[in-house]
Amino acid sequence: MHKLQLFLICMLFPLSMLAQHTEQSLIIYRNNDTKLYLPCEKIDSITFLHNEPTTLWVHMPQDPLFIPVADIDSMIVLPLPSFCPDTHHPHAIDLALPSGNKWACCNVGSSAPEDDGGYYAWGEVEEKTNYSWDTYTLAHYDYTYDDYVCDYAGINISGTPNDVAYVKWGKPWRMPSEGAYHELMNNCSCQQIEYRGTKGWIFTGSNGNSVFMPAAGSYIDTSITLKGISTQNWTSTFYLDDYLNQHAYFFSISTFNDAPLYNAVMNDRYNGRTVRAIAK
Ligand SMILES: [Zn+2]
Repeated sequence: MHKLQLFLICMLFPLSMLAQHTEQSLIIYRNNDTKLYLPCEKIDSITFLHNEPTTLWVHMPQDPLFIPVADIDSMIVLPLPSFCPDTHHPHAIDLALPSGNKWACCNVGSSAPEDDGGYYAWGEVEEKTNYSWDTYTLAHYDYTYDDYVCDYAGINISGTPNDVAYVKWGKPWRMPSEGAYHELMNNCSCQQIEYRGTKGWIFTGSNGNSVFMPAAGSYIDTSITLKGISTQNWTSTFYLDDYLNQHAYFFSISTFNDAPLYNAVMNDRYNGRTVRAIAK
């Protein structure tokens, strides 16, 4: 972005006026093809750091942001995107995926896209206040192995009594497999966004429709970690190469060097994680 353009934006950017419109978002397009959505009501002002036109300083009381000017392609203010036709969630959002899968607009246990919803151990269908091997109902301690052995619930629990999306919401909702997440990532653009006060990610299909996933982190023992930093949804896919049956795959997306990094990771089944449903 030309430094003079940016200077004019910093001098003239009518943030005090925009702050009255809580549904507006400042979108910063970066040269690495990522977009940053910042809610206008959280921005006090925008200046240059040390008055030098090399680093942009977005003054947000909770979370000041510094961006090298050389990394910025352009900036614009637009209304926050809306994901749903009305407030009767969950909606099945068509992202034009080859499989025909539609993705829920919100997490299981939530009442709006920006809510984290429930945290569930893999294969369990109720929320808890402590997520550990001790409290995991699908495992028992085995003295032969001197470790916890988990019940085998099948290679894919989607659509079974161990699928919290299916149990809570019924047909046609179900947990997505690891492969369904790969399809989502391979066919949608993904950007970091703060939506109605919740940090997370927006996935936009080739037809322009979007879903938002909050960075809800995960619930381990009695506390939630990585909230605001990482989305860690359980998939329905069991991790086979483990004689204790302790692991399943979750979908993880976090920021690394300011760009989204996503992966399917195998992890202990007792961890509490959020669940996003699909419908087909
Ligand atoms: Zn909805």
